[in-house]
Formats: sequence, C-alpha cells, structure tokens
Amino acid sequence: YYMKFATKVIHAGIEPDATSGAIMTPIFQTSTYVQDAPGVHKGFEYARTQNPTRNVLQNQLAALENGNHGICFASGLAATDAIVKLFQQGDHIISCNDLYGGTYRIFTKVYGKFGMDFSFVDMTDVTNIENAITPKTKLIWVETPTNPMLNIVDIAAVCALAKKHNVLVCVDNTFASPYLQTPLDLGADIVIHSATKYLGGHSDVIHGAVVVKDKSLADQLYFIQNASGAVPGPQDCFLILRGIKTLHIRVERACENAEKIAAFLASHPKVEKVNYPGFVSHKGHEIAKKQMKKFGAMVSFSLKDDSLAAAHKVLSSTKLFSLAESLGGVESLIGHPASMTHGSIPLEERKKTGVVDSLIRLSIGIEDADDLIEDLKNAIGKHKPTTKEWFATARNYALYSNESGLYDDI
Ligand SMILES: *Cc1c(COP(=O)(O)O)cnc(C)c1O
Repeated sequence: YYMKFATKVIHAGIEPDATSGAIMTPIFQTSTYVQDAPGVHKGFEYARTQNPTRNVLQNQLAALENGNHGICFASGLAATDAIVKLFQQGDHIISCNDLYGGTYRIFTKVYGKFGMDFSFVDMTDVTNIENAITPKTKLIWVETPTNPMLNIVDIAAVCALAKKHNVLVCVDNTFASPYLQTPLDLGADIVIHSATKYLGGHSDVIHGAVVVKDKSLADQLYFIQNASGAVPGPQDCFLILRGIKTLHIRVERACENAEKIAAFLASHPKVEKVNYPGFVSHKGHEIAKKQMKKFGAMVSFSLKDDSLAAAHKVLSSTKLFSLAESLGGVESLIGHPASMTHGSIPLEERKKTGVVDSLIRLSIGIEDADDLIEDLKNAIGKHKPTTKEWFATARNYALYSNESGLYDDI
C-alpha cells in the first residue's frame, strides 16, 4: 500500500527477522546456506547470488525510487559497470559533458577498449542529445544535478526524446538522492546511485545501487550481478540500511544549510560565480523546481582570482569543511574538482565545461549553518560585505522567485 517517503525509509521492504524477531535486519555474514536435499533450500544457495541482508536493502531501495527491483553492488562504479554490460561492442551511449570523473573514466578507458562508443554532450539543451543520436545509440546516461557545475538536465524531456528513438535512459541520482528526485516517475528506465554518498550518509561505506521497474531489465542486471560478482558484503548493506533511516532528515537539513551558504557566497566580493540551482538566476532553476523537491546540498563557486594558488589557500584554510573527495555525508566537505574528482578529465574538456582552476566544490553537511558560514568567511577572506553589497548580490541571485518575501523591501 502507499506510504509517504518518511514512512518508507523506516518500513518499506523491512520485516522483523523471522527467526528471532530482531527489529533491525541482521547481518547475514555467511558465504553459503545448508540445503535439505540437492536443490531443496530456503531460496538461498550461495552468498554471491543471494544474501538476506542484501535482499532487504534491494527491496528498500526499489521502494524509495518508486521502482520494482533493486540490485546492489560493491560500489557506485561497480553498478555503472553492470549497466554498461547490458550493451555490447558497437553500441553507442550518449552522456553529459559535465560528468562524474569516474564515470567518464570507465566509459572511455575501460569500455572504449571493448569497441563501445561514447558521446559527451551538453544536456542542458536537449537538442544536443537529439543531434548525437545514431542508429547505434542504445542508452542516454543523465547526471542531474551535474558534478561539479550543478547544471540541471530536464529528465522528463530527455525521456520523451529517448522513447521516440527507442533508446533507454539511465539517471545517476547520486547528487539528488531519492528524497529530492525520483527519475523513474519521470520516465527513466534505470536509476543508479553511488550509495556511498547520501544513501549511506555517514562516510563509512562504499556501495552502489541500481533500481528499475522493468522485470526483464532487472533479470539481466541480476544475472550480471551474479556473473560478474561485484557484490557488496552484508555488513555494508546493513550500514546503507541504517543510513537510509535518516535520509529525509539529513537531506532536508543539508538543503537548508546549502541555501544559506549559497546566498552568503554570492554576497562575497572575492567570489566570482556561485553554481546553485536554487538561485532564480540559475539556468536550470525552473526545471529543478519542477523535478526536485529541494535544490540539493551541493554548491560550487569560483574566485575572482582564478588561480590554483587562490583556490589552494581557501582549500587549506577551512577548519569545519574537511578537504576530501566524496560528498553526501553528515559532515561538510570541500574539494577542488580540477585536481581531485576531475583529475582524470583532460584540461581542455575540463575548461570547456567550466571546471576552472579556482572552482571549489562544497558538499554541505548537517552542522550549524552559521558555523559553516563563519568557517568559509575565515577561509575566503575576512571582508564583511556592506549592507549595500549584500543586497546588490542578493537581488541578483534572489532565492525562490522571492516567494519568501525576503527581498520585498529592497
Ligand atoms: C561517487 C560517485 C560515483 C561513483 O561511486 P563510488 O561509490 O565511488 O564507486 C558515481 N556517480 C556520482 C555522481 C558520484 O558522486
């Protein structure tokens, strides 16, 4: 029956353990299962193929994404690997040009070698996708919001185009999390997560997940999960299950913090540009409003002094924001895409998409927003904007179409 999101994260797919009544899903740390007679068993034969802890998580993830089948993997990239294995030599995949670095790497460096073709286009304009479609195109791979430029791709528009050309759509929903965005509802065929990020939420586990509606697609993915064997351990599945229980509360708070921090950055005289879909001035704001519940907790910005040295000064000065790769945890992180996550993307490609030398990416956590702002203030420069400066930029970037009434009297 129908459950709202906050109820689903606690209950969907989860039953007390049948043998003990344990309310929390036990960690079934076993490699094999005893059979009564050859082929007579309780649905579990060998733990690469099935594991009860993993099953519960797979059902839970399917419910959160409004899909029918969840398939878990040892990492987000192992999940990506499984999806690409649905296709074969000669097939063509279209992806965005502003893409998670590891996804770009597996596409070009691993599967390029096996004779698969990849195009990278600016998906903020759907006609770029249409122009890239060939008779060999089998999949459109969407990331939205994108990493690290926080561009927004219109999922429903991409799916409508794909249906017309009989092409599948996969959405990497890592940045939004199912609390903010459910691509299957918008027509996507496959959703993928690096569960390492918001789903796990505590920076203590690497995990990947795929969710689909279609049974035959699910069967192929279960086959690959077992045949290629990049499965997660039961302890990792337990940690993701545990993390998910507070997903809605964590993401809600992180989004609130991000809204305040984005506004602060936009008002700072040393900041050149802030990339945050919550701004009315953001190119994808209207689409984000349509397809997301809130605007996410990822923010990136560049400095007026666009040099590696200026970026490095900020990156090594924060005390609460830890300098680290990854995102989506309870703690705030700061990163430098040009040298960290996007190190594997060639300089030319990188600059074309806006990943300039001074670009800094923030994953906003659930700490106190005032403390986080103070930390950034100290790192970027002590300059306190005058009231005039603050309102000049605030007007420019006005949040939420001024629905809040916050800027009514300027
Ligand atoms: C981290 C990440 C991945 C890869 O996931 P891993 O769990 O690190 O393998 C894929 N896509 C996005 C958007 C990510 O942030």
